[in-house]
Amino acid sequence: MEHDIHVIGGGLAGSEAAWQLAEAGWRVRLSEMRGGGDTTPAHHGDSLAELVCSNSFRSDDAESNAVGLLHQEMRALGSLILREGDHHRVPAGSALAMDRDGFSAGVTAALEAHPNVTIVRERVDTLPDTPAIVATGPLTAPALSERIAGETGRDALAFFDAIAPIVHRDSIDLDTAWFQSRWNKGDGTDYINCPLDKDQYHAFVDALLAGEKSEYREWENVPYFEGCMPIEVMAERGRETLRFGPMKGVGLDDPRTGRWPYAAVQLRQDNAHGTLWNIVGFQTKLKHAEQVRLFRTIPGLEKAEFARLGGLHRNTFIRSPELLDPQLRLRSRPNLRFAGQITGCEGYVESAAIGLLAGRFAAAELRGEVMAPPPVETALGALLGHITGGAAAESYQPMNVNFGLFPPIPGRTKKADRKKLYTDRARAALAEWIAA
Ligand SMILES: Cc1cc2nc3c(=O)[nH]c(=O)nc-3n(C[C@H](O)[C@H](O)[C@H](O)COP(=O)(O)OP(=O)(O)OC[C@H]3O[C@@H](n4cnc5c(N)ncnc54)[C@H](O)[C@@H]3O)c2cc1C
Repeated sequence: MEHDIHVIGGGLAGSEAAWQLAEAGWRVRLSEMRGGGDTTPAHHGDSLAELVCSNSFRSDDAESNAVGLLHQEMRALGSLILREGDHHRVPAGSALAMDRDGFSAGVTAALEAHPNVTIVRERVDTLPDTPAIVATGPLTAPALSERIAGETGRDALAFFDAIAPIVHRDSIDLDTAWFQSRWNKGDGTDYINCPLDKDQYHAFVDALLAGEKSEYREWENVPYFEGCMPIEVMAERGRETLRFGPMKGVGLDDPRTGRWPYAAVQLRQDNAHGTLWNIVGFQTKLKHAEQVRLFRTIPGLEKAEFARLGGLHRNTFIRSPELLDPQLRLRSRPNLRFAGQITGCEGYVESAAIGLLAGRFAAAELRGEVMAPPPVETALGALLGHITGGAAAESYQPMNVNFGLFPPIPGRTKKADRKKLYTDRARAALAEWIAA
């Protein structure tokens, strides 16, 4: 079949993008290498949209949870991934979990049956010159990765992530922590500093060394690069290593003592809204519960709420905030859109959501129109905005959807009411956008 657009990768994002395009009347060639003699180290079968690990799309609560809200928005836009998720739902409290085989089989059957979709089981090794969506995921095949790196520049394509935890700004105690750049460089508000005295520092190092760590998968082969080494590995090198690395206190004047602290933890602004701050140099393989427990022992972070916890994984993603335009097109080669985890979003639902947007943007473009991006107050718009410019490009790392990506609610609000205010505002904004 002749096609109007080529979607490369039949995972969560590529399947959703192909569906949106096909439903809009465009003929899609969907290339998936599994089933054509290739696979990835994480996939087990040949079905489209395979869930490689857990069988959950996380919370389905659209009133007080950002991923639940994203589900709701995707349903409103005719998402195939959500339709099949709902259809194959299994009991999981307030989460949306599904029978994984039924789910993937359902997505595959829907796309196979669609008259506008041709599924080709082939590995794609080059970047097309015609309209295409690249949705090849965290384990993109090596030859195509090479081509992408050739287009984006090698530094702008990562093969591993090194994620430091991110804290919601309004959960940091600024009676203890303070704004200052080391040696007063910058404009004085670039960093938030949390001071530790000698006992606190050594207790922190002990807890770090004793803390339970996640195991790497055998095939991941995550190397430790100087500059993004896990903090627990640095601590193993010697008790003082962190104090001369990411926890150094020199050049920071604690306003409460007028002196440099024995050690310090620094947080740097992570998004344009200023709502999210990342703990500088704190990439870690500690288990998530351990991270929350341990990082809350840091003075100033006792009540920290985490938008993202740390991790290190094999992953393939581009530096989207500088490479992609707001329509998910590669600035240097606008016939190509990127979608899914390769854009630096994280997780099944976020990947499918970006696939949905890429499909809709491309469908509009094929009609000779430009689709306005969803409003930044919606979960779709907040995630898209983060990927395509809201996030700091130089420290860009994979991100789940969370309320820290949304523009803050203006005025003073009770914390207990805030989530509902976000979701009510999002629903109103989405309805207006759909109507327009
Ligand atoms: C080990 C592991 C565990 C994970 N666990 C979870 C979890 O528990 N929960 C969660 O939400 N997320 C998890 N993730 C992340 C999740 O897998 C991704 O967010 C999601 O699958 C990304 O969707 P995607 O469509 O971008 O990529 P994928 O779903 O990986 O789809 C990409 C597709 O492209 C194909 N492909 C690759 N290269 C080529 C090529 N050159 N030509 C043709 N086809 C190609 C692949 O075979 C694959 O089918 C995990 C990821 C990994 C690697």
